[in-house]
Amino acid sequence: MKSKKTRLYISSPHMSGDEQKYIQEAFDQNWIAPLGPNVDAFESAIAGYCNVNHVAALSSGTASIHLALVLLGVQKEDEVLVSTFTFSASVNPIIYQGAKPVFIDSEPETWNMDPILLKQALEERKLNGKLQKVKAIIVVHLYGMPAKMDEIMEIASTYGIPVIEDAAEALGSQLNGKPLGSFGELGILSFNGNKIITTSGGGALLSNEKAYIEKARFLATQARDQAPHYQHSEIGYNYRMSNVLAGLGRGQMEVIDERVKKRRENFVFYWDIFKGIKGVSFQPEPEGFYSNRWLTTIIINPEVTGIQRLILQQKLEEENIETRPLWKPMHLQPVFKCYDAYLTGVSEALFNNGLCLPSGSNLDKEDRDRIKKALSMFFSFID
Ligand SMILES: *Cc1c(COP(=O)(O)O)cnc(C)c1O
Repeated sequence: MKSKKTRLYISSPHMSGDEQKYIQEAFDQNWIAPLGPNVDAFESAIAGYCNVNHVAALSSGTASIHLALVLLGVQKEDEVLVSTFTFSASVNPIIYQGAKPVFIDSEPETWNMDPILLKQALEERKLNGKLQKVKAIIVVHLYGMPAKMDEIMEIASTYGIPVIEDAAEALGSQLNGKPLGSFGELGILSFNGNKIITTSGGGALLSNEKAYIEKARFLATQARDQAPHYQHSEIGYNYRMSNVLAGLGRGQMEVIDERVKKRRENFVFYWDIFKGIKGVSFQPEPEGFYSNRWLTTIIINPEVTGIQRLILQQKLEEENIETRPLWKPMHLQPVFKCYDAYLTGVSEALFNNGLCLPSGSNLDKEDRDRIKKALSMFFSFID
């Protein structure tokens, strides 16, 4: 019987119902191309929602980060300071450019980039006369939680380093009422299948600087010069979003506020059932910080609870309930071991004890009851 239970995913696509209308429009107008009215409308919807002046819809979040680095002139042997507690896509584009990541560990209050370590890394480079090699800072808003942007932006401006916000997981999150993605010189979003809204695959680059986004559009469409023939003076990329997929994005943007509300309700559901349990804690949300709660994660102290998170993961898997450890920090990844890292131990400890729980906006009461029942095999919840 158990194997017949439908699988509960960590985060699965959740359509609004209007997506097909916009996709049909693309077909009716024969705009089956990496540009078109759906792309324009999707870009405006994002710009309005995130309160930025300019947006380019692109083929992925990773492509968006890559173009951001190209725009900031990141080249061979340069350095980019980046959160270590993230998904590898935040870092891979640094390597595409032949540059070197410098990993910055998390602080415990948001789990994101520690401003004190960031300052230390920059100050050391200044003293060694190597500050000019640092071309950018990539700050990640993990699981939707805003990083300490006020502190980070102030440090970045003191040392004159531009900031790229990796808001791939954080559409709909805010810091003191200001949308994430609008703090840095450039921001990026992802619309991959598991994100809060999806175009099946896609991303966006955000900025208040028109010149950046114009240049991004140029580079994303093979860097064609203005000429009657195909002429190129720069290396380009094929990174634009398809007009068909942007139709999905338009339909999804109509319900983004509902999706954020649902994800936050999931968090409250888990918080409520675990609140009496010693040794289980959650990602904090400090005053003024507003997370879309893309994923709800719990930290399980094995000494206090007597529960190993991997055993819990395995048992839930038998109930066809998907859970997953938190991101393994980049400084612990075999492929990135050789790079500089500034560490507090915070991200490693979170990785060792954390589990991401089913957090989709499409979970219903029956799903939640099933999850609670499965978890109650391990924890004695008080009703
Ligand atoms: C998903 C994700 C990305 C990459 O986005 P894609 O659209 O999958 O390329 C980058 N950074 C973070 C933190 C992500 O979670």
